[in-house]
Amino acid sequence: KNIGLHGIRKEFLEFFKGKNHLIAPSFPLVPKNDKSLLLINAGMAPLKPYFTGEQTPPSKRMATCQKCIRTPDIDNVGKTDRHATFFEMLGNFSFGEYFKIEAIEWAWEFLTERMEIEKDKLWVSVYLEDDEAFDIWNKHIGVSKEKIVKLGKGDNFWELEVGPSGPCSEIYVDRGEKYGCGKSSCQPGCDCDRFVEVWNLVFTQFDKDEKGNYNPLPNPNIDTGMGLERITAIMEGARNIFEVGEIKKILNQVEKVSGVTYGRDPNKDISIRVITDHCRAMTFLVSDGVLPSNEGRGYVLRRLIRRAARHGKLLGIQKSFLNDIVEFVINSWKVEYPEIKEREEQIKKIIYAEEEKFQETIHQGISILEQYIDEMAHKKETVLSGEKAFKLYDTYGFPLDLTKEILEEKNLTVDEDEFNKNMEEQRNRARRAREEGDNSGWGDNDFHDIFKGLETKFEGYEKVYLETEV
Ligand code: ATP
Ligand code: MG
Ligand code: MG
Ligand code: MG
Repeated sequence: KNIGLHGIRKEFLEFFKGKNHLIAPSFPLVPKNDKSLLLINAGMAPLKPYFTGEQTPPSKRMATCQKCIRTPDIDNVGKTDRHATFFEMLGNFSFGEYFKIEAIEWAWEFLTERMEIEKDKLWVSVYLEDDEAFDIWNKHIGVSKEKIVKLGKGDNFWELEVGPSGPCSEIYVDRGEKYGCGKSSCQPGCDCDRFVEVWNLVFTQFDKDEKGNYNPLPNPNIDTGMGLERITAIMEGARNIFEVGEIKKILNQVEKVSGVTYGRDPNKDISIRVITDHCRAMTFLVSDGVLPSNEGRGYVLRRLIRRAARHGKLLGIQKSFLNDIVEFVINSWKVEYPEIKEREEQIKKIIYAEEEKFQETIHQGISILEQYIDEMAHKKETVLSGEKAFKLYDTYGFPLDLTKEILEEKNLTVDEDEFNKNMEEQRNRARRAREEGDNSGWGDNDFHDIFKGLETKFEGYEKVYLETEV
């Protein structure tokens, strides 16, 4: 069955509509009234008030396809087959209504009957203390015991810093040995790309408070998440999420702009995939009102733009090029996300300005680094201090890998431990800033005028989604 990324999204939402779920469009990437989260990273995140009971949901059953950003996965992007910073998460939710049996039954039905995935290829994991879920899979669905893996808290207990949490059960597709690490211990939960986790069913039965207590919720909830790119890759037999038809179009555009052919040099392939991913992420971030800055979500955007530009350099692209890719993103997703088409001009303006700024940075960074190198030669040192490397990175946006590369050419190195220590301190500062409330990206900014009048539009979502049909 090959219905493509957009077809699978539609089929998923229709499937759950058929099970009496209210279908809501994606919420913006910027959380509303939620200081615990920088950017929406899961389908349930914008629905949190319904899970905690703070607000009454418009329906006890809902399903969405939610835009997500996961910066913690950034270093995996392009390297694993399955991680992006931007992806779409399909999900069905029950607010105190149905629970484990239905969630498991429907997930199985969707995968084996709608997607027609061979049952033999499916494996599941359960939280090691969750005998109830184990029995449902084994006795009710008929999955053999060998294919049900018990995993601990790290993998199979879902929680944010605070809020709804609980044990979960993940569904994996075995793509075969050729994708595996070859270790005898390889099974679902292994870091390699053989068993791809496609769907996570979270049985939200607790509300975690600031002190770390798990308070049982009066009516347990269901929160599920399935990566749209991952399930599409499985359906299409694509090697990784970037080679899924719809995303491959973006990737092909990167090839075209850079003149580099995909599939010849593993390192260049990583750069091509990174650019493909980051261009998707930056398009949606800017369209949801995030602007480049040095803090918070603005910094996430800045980092993505600079990283993409940097990988463009590695591919030998001289000029600003991101908009040539962004345009393809907009055209491929504009039907499902009309906001990106509406804001096309602003998106391009902002990305271009930031990319140009980065070009300057590169020149500036190189001249400062050369100064450092002169000083080192003078003092007969061979290791650049981590603090200086961090200053280059933090103040001038000059990436560590570039610093390393330039140093290497002169047989010099950098104190990475010290760099990481500085980075850690910076992260702590950022976390504190976030806890104290972060409005970065919207402040007194050169671009602020561009966004005048758009803010009010974000208010309307709650009203809009009630009326939206699939
Ligand atoms: P993994 O273990 O593979 O990193 P995860 O357990 O962190 O995935 P969840 O938090 O359970 O992922 O998210 C629900 C689903 O969203 C996953 O089962 C997967 O299909 C998808 N997903 C998660 N992270 C990513 C990502 N970085 N890129 C693409 N899809 C993702
Ligand atoms: Mg993960
Ligand atoms: Mg996982
Ligand atoms: Mg998971």
